Amino acid sequence: EAHYRNSELKTKELERYKLDLEEKNKEVVLGSKYKSEFLANMSHELRTPLNSLIILAQMLYENKDGNLTEKQVEYATTIFSSGNDLLRLINDILDLSKIESGMADMVQGEVVLEDVLSLAERQFAPIAKKKGIELELIKQEMIPSIIYSDEQRISQIVKNLLSNAFKFTEKGKVMLELGKRMMNEGSIQKEFLTFAVTDSGLGIPKDKQGLIFEAFRQADGTTSRKYGGTGLGLSISKELADLLGGYITLESTEGIGSTFTFYLPINEEQTSDTQSPSEDE
Ligand code: ADP
Repeated sequence: EAHYRNSELKTKELERYKLDLEEKNKEVVLGSKYKSEFLANMSHELRTPLNSLIILAQMLYENKDGNLTEKQVEYATTIFSSGNDLLRLINDILDLSKIESGMADMVQGEVVLEDVLSLAERQFAPIAKKKGIELELIKQEMIPSIIYSDEQRISQIVKNLLSNAFKFTEKGKVMLELGKRMMNEGSIQKEFLTFAVTDSGLGIPKDKQGLIFEAFRQADGTTSRKYGGTGLGLSISKELADLLGGYITLESTEGIGSTFTFYLPINEEQTSDTQSPSEDE
């Protein structure tokens, strides 16, 4: 009987231990949720005053009454551009914390792929012209014209990749190629759209290629680094690609250039939970 009681005690102890562990896990999950909520709230609180600061600085540097000296206009311009840098950082932090806490708004709908390409062209043609870099958009044959996914998020990823490509390229060409590829996922074959962004820029050393997808990490970690930026664009893009069921790969050679490829599963049919109201009638 003593033996029996002993093993009963052990079982109870084990149960208690398991419960403890579950509680601890819950705390960890809650902790990170509170942290993300806090970050999201903070970002909102920071954005409001910053927005007025930016607008007022703009009104100043425009100097419509002509009352300001040249120096004063220069100071106002700096306040404006620094304010915008800070706003970009806050927006990125807000975006990443929302994604990480599972609060990112994802909208499933019709994605017209031609629209994604033409938006990219409109966004980047001026930068290409200014930097004297060629921008080439290629659409392979047999690409569906419409898929079901989140158009705004797809464009956000493509924009991040293109803006890096232009930032880290001084001459040559930046190319966005829309293609299609079959990939093995375990034993099943799955069809993916590929958005490949290729540049003839700096390239990324092999030992830095994994780390640049982490938040706040940049290949050039020195304090005197030449290129600005938050180090958040790629981690946001990676998380978003993941939420869309895809992923991003990187091939790069230092001094020659890089190709970032965003793989997006092809969903040519609208699933029942993503039906638009108009089609329910
Ligand atoms: P940011 O561009 O704001 O620094 P990202 O997360 O977008 O942040 O990129 C992280 C780092 O990855 C960059 O700082 C840069 O070192 C490297 N990187 C990203 N894209 C490229 C590219 N096309 N060519 C060279 N380096 C790149």
